[in-house]
Amino acid sequence: MVNMYYDNDADLSVLKDRKIAVLGYGSQGHAHALNLRDSGMNLCVGLRPGDPFTEQAEGDGMDVKTISEACAWSEVIMILVPDQHQRTVYENEIAPNLQSGDTLAFAHGFNIHYDQIVPPEDVNVMMIAPKGPGHLVRRTFQNGTGVPCLIAVYQDPSGQTRDLALAWAKGIGGTRAGVIETTFKDETETDLFGEQAVLCGGSAELIKAGFETLTEAGYPPELAYFECLHELKLIVDLYYEGGLSRMNYSVSDTAEYGGMSRGSRIITDQTRAEMKKILKEVQNGDFAREWIEENSKGQPVMEKLRSEVKAHPIEKVGVELRRMMDWLTGGAEAKQSA
Ligand code: NDP
Ligand code: MG
Repeated sequence: MVNMYYDNDADLSVLKDRKIAVLGYGSQGHAHALNLRDSGMNLCVGLRPGDPFTEQAEGDGMDVKTISEACAWSEVIMILVPDQHQRTVYENEIAPNLQSGDTLAFAHGFNIHYDQIVPPEDVNVMMIAPKGPGHLVRRTFQNGTGVPCLIAVYQDPSGQTRDLALAWAKGIGGTRAGVIETTFKDETETDLFGEQAVLCGGSAELIKAGFETLTEAGYPPELAYFECLHELKLIVDLYYEGGLSRMNYSVSDTAEYGGMSRGSRIITDQTRAEMKKILKEVQNGDFAREWIEENSKGQPVMEKLRSEVKAHPIEKVGVELRRMMDWLTGGAEAKQSA
């Protein structure tokens, strides 16, 4: 069993005593910085010159410094720039400003686990990984709730790193929902596997395959869109609230029987074997090496794959249909594409 931690298990005062730098003001960065500030912490935001988020951070009342200045000023440094840029930022701006006893924090274990960043032994290394997008980390905090978090300690010369990680999790609202202690290895490997096999990769292919099957059989794309993409959200909400049984309880008996008797023909032994292979590539570092190399070449494969997704017929019909349902996005998408 894992240990779960809630608000009463964490003490904010250990973090209150320290100067904090949040590097980056994107999805996670703005959420951690704003929530910690609202929790009474003493922090600055480190951004590279010309970062388009500078204006937003200053508008939010943040003390914005360059990344080097922020690292020199602070004792706890949370790196919230994209994973593929962390190594360069670390080598050029963080490492030269690290002092013995400082704490380096991450929201995902990739760079530590795959040895892209190797901090000195006298620096504490911890992780606080919210299990949700940054905008939810902020919104739930404002509503008085939070997003569950994983915490982990990789190096602990001070003997206080776990308390500090728990305090951080409390400061961003994570202990309201529940915090699980794990390791950098387990967080990294399960996170990568989950996004590849189930959350991003698996679900997107399932949606596309369902849509293609219906449209190739001559059904209107609008119908196929609602059936295979739009409705999935309603089903996932049921999983989220009460697991697989809650979904089965809520759908019709026909849907329940059809789903239970047919689903295993979609996810076959071959699919499971492929999942095991994907997990192996995560565990043995093959995926990490491929992704690092892809970045060193300027993301050519990423660009090709992105444009393939954008060109898929489900994307075209989706834009049209969502235009008519602008309560979904508050009209954001219509404004974006206008
Ligand atoms: P974002 O892409 O939202 O971060 C953008 C921020 O990083 C901006 O301030 C951006 O500035 C800055 N940045 C980008 N490139 C560089 C660079 N080369 N040098 C300096 N600053 C740079 O990142 P996320 O919030 O998505 O991810 C941050 C961390 O959080 C990652 O480790 C990720 O794995 C983890 N995480 C993310 C989750 C999510 O929901 N997104 C969920 C859980 C963990 P500029 O505008 O100048 O590019
Ligand atoms: Mg994840």
